[in-house]
Amino acid sequence: MDDPDREKRKLHRQHYEEFSRLHAQYEAEGTDYRQREYPPYPDEIRGLTCGAKSKRTGNPCKQLALFFNGRCKFHGGASTGPRTKAGKRKSARNGKTGGRPRKNQSP
Ligand SMILES: [Zn+2]
Repeated sequence: MDDPDREKRKLHRQHYEEFSRLHAQYEAEGTDYRQREYPPYPDEIRGLTCGAKSKRTGNPCKQLALFFNGRCKFHGGASTGPRTKAGKRKSARNGKTGGRPRKNQSP
């Protein structure tokens, strides 16, 4: 866990948090989208790369399109599964009902 861009990634996350906080507020107030004002992406973190260490080459990842966590679509980390009781129930039901009937049941 030796990330030279740690501080920049922190800024990136703060920017996203501020952005989504404002967005939720605007949505709740029903503000017209033309009157919404969002903070600009900070100049000092423009061009921030994902930077995750590649398994194969050991080089840092160069993806520029990042999620709020500061990593790209390949390095965001796996889902940790359903968290709420309702989600767990739903996931336990998956694949047990419905679906297309099989044409040939026996091998
Ligand atoms: Zn990456």
